[in-house]
Amino acid sequence: MLDKRSGSRLANLWDDAKAEGMSGPELLVYRSNTLGSDKRVTNYGGGNTSSKVWQKDPLTGEEVEVLWVKGSGGDSASIKLDGFATLYMQKLRALKGLYRGPAHEDEMVAYLPHCTFDLNPRAASIDTPLHAFVPKACVDHMHPDAIIAVAAAKDSKAITKEIFGDAIGWLPWKRPGFELGLWLEKFCLENPDAKGVVLESHGLFTWGDTPKECYETTISVINQAIDWFERKSQGKAIFGGEAVQSLDASARRAIAAKLMPRIRGLISEKSHKLGHFDDQPAVLEFVNSKDLRPLAALGTSCPDHFLRTKIRPLVIEFDPAKPDVDAVIARLADDIAEYRVGYQAYYDSCKHADSPAIRDPNAVVYLMPGVGMFTFAGDKATARISGEFYVNAINVMRGASTVSSYVGLPAQEAFDIEYWQLEEAKLQRLPKPKALAGQIALVTGGAGGIGRATATRLLREGACVMLADIDEAALASANDELSKAYGKDFVRLVRIDVTSEDQVLSGFAETAVEFGGIDILVSNAGLASSAPIEETTLALWNKNMDILSTGYFLVSREAFRLFRAQKIGGNVVFVASKNGLAASPNASAYCTAKAAEIHLARCLALEGAEAQIRVNVVNPDAVLRGSKIWTGEWKEQRAAAYKMSTDDLEEHYRSRSMLKRSVFPEDIAEAIYFFASDMSAKSTGNIVNVDAGNAQSFTR
Ligand code: NAD
Repeated sequence: MLDKRSGSRLANLWDDAKAEGMSGPELLVYRSNTLGSDKRVTNYGGGNTSSKVWQKDPLTGEEVEVLWVKGSGGDSASIKLDGFATLYMQKLRALKGLYRGPAHEDEMVAYLPHCTFDLNPRAASIDTPLHAFVPKACVDHMHPDAIIAVAAAKDSKAITKEIFGDAIGWLPWKRPGFELGLWLEKFCLENPDAKGVVLESHGLFTWGDTPKECYETTISVINQAIDWFERKSQGKAIFGGEAVQSLDASARRAIAAKLMPRIRGLISEKSHKLGHFDDQPAVLEFVNSKDLRPLAALGTSCPDHFLRTKIRPLVIEFDPAKPDVDAVIARLADDIAEYRVGYQAYYDSCKHADSPAIRDPNAVVYLMPGVGMFTFAGDKATARISGEFYVNAINVMRGASTVSSYVGLPAQEAFDIEYWQLEEAKLQRLPKPKALAGQIALVTGGAGGIGRATATRLLREGACVMLADIDEAALASANDELSKAYGKDFVRLVRIDVTSEDQVLSGFAETAVEFGGIDILVSNAGLASSAPIEETTLALWNKNMDILSTGYFLVSREAFRLFRAQKIGGNVVFVASKNGLAASPNASAYCTAKAAEIHLARCLALEGAEAQIRVNVVNPDAVLRGSKIWTGEWKEQRAAAYKMSTDDLEEHYRSRSMLKRSVFPEDIAEAIYFFASDMSAKSTGNIVNVDAGNAQSFTR
């Protein structure tokens, strides 16, 4: 994990050989990716870059000046050409004639699409005028921790002067928009030798005539700030010094596993949240410090930071020297309610007549001395990124509070950004969440045929999935494949042997730390075996019972415990078998264990109903394709039982079915998805057979 504490200089990564022969827009992509590759230069999605390039107008054929500027959304580290908006500079300049003053600056945003060059569909961002009006070919606007630390210090202007002299100017806090663009232009015209400007409580602007000059200025300006902070911080206590010491890594994770589902339950009333745990050194240094509470209360400064993290975090009172997690849990509901009251008060005291309605009043960031930081959001990526933003904020507070006093953004300014109509419009434009967004599923036997198909189906609907299996090679390959297809944030793997109580406990704890809890258990791990009763050894009998009956019991018990800790319902789907209902020759151990699963499901449906925990069963039959069960002995034994060759089995099962159709893993996954989703919100204790029709297994 990247240690984001500032301390070492940034390297100049510009490579002339790579840049050789690139076009203007390609150089802009290269510059942006190189800058964005280090989170100390800019936070995720934060800041933007631009170049003014002369290009042929597609209509007139004339050479025109075009502003290429990072468009709305996206991240500098990974941006490609299509991430940039392109606008005619001449038209952008003409907008000045339409500008009616600061009170009307938001209306200027609607004019930006009229300036589009070459029908580029990428929307121009609110920051576009900030780049357009700086009279330089290349402009970088970054959010480096070291510069925001300058920008968020009480005597920010004097510090800027002390570090940079006249090379870098300073402008007071101003919300990004048309007016700030004009301020920047005025500054450049009045200070033609300046290479950039620090924006109070915000970040850095730097510029140059060429991409390389611009890049190198940005890096060297940040390095100057890093140097200065290092010199000034020498011998000084960071965050007032250490108040408590960290617990060891495994104790920290154990506490996270216990607390995260409880926090999640208390903040997921309207929509389920995903969690992220971070205990990197930069976080521990802050949460263990004497100044944790006063600094956390001041709130974050850079608008990007608090838009993701909310203006301030919730500090969980905890003494790692006398760790009493039960006491924390007992107080948690009150602490969270108190935070919500505080957020409502902030909203009420800052709102305007036309402000959007209050959004989720729960904290995003939870800080716990000795343990670390939990962050929660509507999806895993946002929870993780919110944590990364708070680490940026910690770095800023570290710098600013060591050399001066740290000042957060005034509440009204923060509110005006958080509830800005343009920000609200962005939120309204977001696509509707998928059916299982915010849901966490654990799939046992997740590396097998039906398990993998199920994970795929749930991921497709936006769930996060923990793949659990004993086959580590198959787990790794399923994890690779699914992370590539659905994104790393959505998939995790854990080795769980469902017959081991310890592994089940630790696997569920791992799920709670990785995602924040659990909503869906798909109990699917299994095997198949065949033997006439006289030849069924006790070992074979016990193996079936251990994996199928006992294994299903152990994972369900753990899921129920987590569901009850969260108190937001839950969903269990058992993958049993047609053989749990219909007797089959020479498979008594398997059939009996599968019948036990089905009855266990009914018992659990009864027990769970009052807590909105649903338990249902899907019964597959003869899913040959993709199943590992059907690659080994079982296939031969079944073929022998039916007195036919293994090659004829698939056709045998197809023609034996009432619908004369083969059953595939995806068919089973579809029924599992039905039970795992709200489509079946009013069904529990049910069985769906997915067997292409088999009268023997009709339920009565
Ligand atoms: P599969 O062999 O492809 O997958 C089963 C997975 O379970 C494997 O990855 C295996 O490693 C894992 N597993 C085995 N023992 C485990 C343990 N102790 N702990 C954790 N994981 C373990 O088979 P599949 O066809 O995908 O079967 C999935 C489920 O469907 C099983 O419960 C099976 O009994 C049931 N089922 C399958 C069929 C079929 O025709 N394929 C029919 C009826 C029922």
